[in-house]
Amino acid sequence: MLSEAKIQDLVPEPDAAALRRSIEYHLKYTTGKDPSAATLTDWRLAVSRAVRDLVIAPWFETTQRVYTEDQKRVYYLSMEFLIGRLLEDAILNLGLDDKLRSIVGNFDVDYAALLTDEPDAALGNGGLGRLAACFMDSMSTVGLAAYGYGIRYNHGLFRQSFENGWQAEEAEDWLRQTHPWEFERPEAHYPIGFGGAVSVDGAKATWTPAETVLAVGYDTPVPGWRGRWSNTLRLWSAKPEREFDLEPFNRGDYMAAAAPSVLAETISRVLYPDDTTAQGKELRLKQEYFFTAASLADIVRRFLAHHDDVAKLPQSIAIQLNDTHPAIACPELVRLLMDHHGQPFETAFEIARGCLHYTNHTLMPEALERWPTDLMGRVLPRHMALIERIDDHHAKSVKRPESVKILDGGEVRMGDLAFIGARRVNGVSALHTELMKQTVFKDLHELHPERVVNQTNGVTPRRWLYNCNPALRSLLNDTIGETWVTDLDRLEALLPLADDTAFRARFAAAKDTNKRRLADHLKHSMGITLDPTAMFDIQIKRIHEYKRQLMNILHAAALWNAIRQNPEKNWAPRIKIFGGKAAPGYVMAKLAIKLINDIGATINKDPAMAGRLQIVYPPNYNVSMAELLIPAADLSEQISTAGMEASGTGNMKLSVNGALTVGTLDGANIEIGEAVGSDNIFIFGLTAAEVAATRAAGYDPASHIAAEPRLAEILEQIASGAFSPDDPGRYTDLVTNLREHDWFMVAADFSSYWDIQSKIDEAWHDRDGWHRSAVLNTARMGWFSSDRTIRGYARDIWNAGTAY
Ligand SMILES: *Cc1c(COP(=O)(O)O)cnc(C)c1O
Repeated sequence: MLSEAKIQDLVPEPDAAALRRSIEYHLKYTTGKDPSAATLTDWRLAVSRAVRDLVIAPWFETTQRVYTEDQKRVYYLSMEFLIGRLLEDAILNLGLDDKLRSIVGNFDVDYAALLTDEPDAALGNGGLGRLAACFMDSMSTVGLAAYGYGIRYNHGLFRQSFENGWQAEEAEDWLRQTHPWEFERPEAHYPIGFGGAVSVDGAKATWTPAETVLAVGYDTPVPGWRGRWSNTLRLWSAKPEREFDLEPFNRGDYMAAAAPSVLAETISRVLYPDDTTAQGKELRLKQEYFFTAASLADIVRRFLAHHDDVAKLPQSIAIQLNDTHPAIACPELVRLLMDHHGQPFETAFEIARGCLHYTNHTLMPEALERWPTDLMGRVLPRHMALIERIDDHHAKSVKRPESVKILDGGEVRMGDLAFIGARRVNGVSALHTELMKQTVFKDLHELHPERVVNQTNGVTPRRWLYNCNPALRSLLNDTIGETWVTDLDRLEALLPLADDTAFRARFAAAKDTNKRRLADHLKHSMGITLDPTAMFDIQIKRIHEYKRQLMNILHAAALWNAIRQNPEKNWAPRIKIFGGKAAPGYVMAKLAIKLINDIGATINKDPAMAGRLQIVYPPNYNVSMAELLIPAADLSEQISTAGMEASGTGNMKLSVNGALTVGTLDGANIEIGEAVGSDNIFIFGLTAAEVAATRAAGYDPASHIAAEPRLAEILEQIASGAFSPDDPGRYTDLVTNLREHDWFMVAADFSSYWDIQSKIDEAWHDRDGWHRSAVLNTARMGWFSSDRTIRGYARDIWNAGTAY
């Protein structure tokens, strides 16, 4: 670990006067505003720039050091980076919170409002994009030479609101204001081709694209803890090769004149708002190729600036593909090596494979990307030919069964391409990696048994504990010092304190502070009142059938029935809080949102529920809202159908902040359970093996419903319109589906879920026992730091060093 002196060297601690002058300077000379005329946003931009200035020195230093020492560089290619706000993160990282609070206050500007004025950078849908953001933070903190590469979408994930309880979507607009953290790199631009034809002359192929757009890089420095290292996130924006055509303009045809720019800019205009199904759209394929090709061109250019033998690429670089979205990297790198650097196919393929590594994120067939070969051939003709060649080459180099093939039924299977083109393939939790070996990649795993490895996901303790939970942060720092921030295993020092009454009381007080902070926020934003002494029972994540928000709201409805029947029972007062967006085209998920809001409205207006049960669903769940909700949670709902959640990272954030988990044996829940101990987590439901066996035996939801009167009753109520009197048939299909199909096994798990929730009620009444478990969750979650995950990738996959 780095000494304090070294940290001071890298980021000279500015005195308050210098910081104040810098803010004034930027307000005046960068934003061009007089303090008397400055808006909150003007002030925010000035403060952001003053803070940004401080990370430039370590950024240059790191870049220089990596270059002079010729360190192995890691390139993390991800279609999504769900970053959230950057200003507060940078301020806390550099330890400037107190100083800035007072400086900004002295300008008569509201410091808290200034921080929340920043829009979330929402360049991702959910877990996958958030993982990439946590990894960027950890790669800098452990001192690994890394670049993140992605797309600078003009519009990130849509804003969600509710209209009559239905989800409504609105375009998101984070770039409407200046984004003060990025540097445009007009000199780092690459032409990216699409379509056209390939001419072959002997061994040499020449691709002449029909259409070309420019990829222009925008760099954001990503400082590690206390600025001790800084990597770069380079996001590509699509620009036209020429802005407009003069000839139609002169004729007065302004639309035609602007056509080239409209076409090009469409590519990086908007994030696809879907996370668990594959998009078979041409624009999506173009986005994938666009950012992958630009990144590879940049990577090869950087390598060749200081090396001359492309055969040595694998020694100098490691490329990680975050899911199959950048899997076109394999044929693209082969193309560059063959067509631009004169390598023969087999050598080119081996070099490419030596550089590439692939992270699988899902086993669900509907989420595995497949592109029709005619689309691929039309958009990327050279790549289509190379994919055929790679498939052929693989068929010849191993004795593979019929089932193994990249090209299948007129489609390119991107998962198989990624696997065959990668040195290592990793899953994101122990269970997921095992299932990968047994299911989607069973045959490929048997052919290449050394290839699949596991790296269980993690989350950055900076954003997800230190920054979002100031109350707990202070308690931890007072009690065990601050080293946990970069060495989360140190939280183990809390173990003996779980039995210390005074410490438990302080831990509980921190939770209470966070619950009040959330209650205040919801009072302001939604006008609703929450009792902070009730159990905050929270499920926040994308709305998806496999995540089973439906089971949670059915439980709420069953609880409503049970409380009405027996109001005098000692029910644990509960507030069920939901957060999450549905993909705009996902009908079932959107209906689930409406059902949550319909059942919620019914429960919330029943006076008998006062102080007993309440449903809250604040709209537009995003990173910033997660930062408010997570520290306030008592209970974390991680209730996916076993075998379907690859890992989860929300589960980790909640547990490390002292929420107890109610969960199935799925994804990283299993490892969380092993870490915190079975007494401190509520596990229920079928296992992944039981789910598979139940399906194989012919699952019959009706028999489960018949055996569980609570479930039967609420399904009757929902089907008869008890929660939707304005439209009694609204949920007919949903209920029929549950009764007859229920692919996600809500009915099979409901009894077990009900029983565990009853145990949770009992556990809640034992306040000391609950707080003891909460402390033990925080104390034992150190392993789930993304610093640990990144060290694992560096060691097992990238063969790259870390400075800290
Ligand atoms: C962590 C996070 C996720 C992932 O949550 P899961 O529960 O693992 O699906 C999604 N969205 C946001 C905003 C997050 O912070």
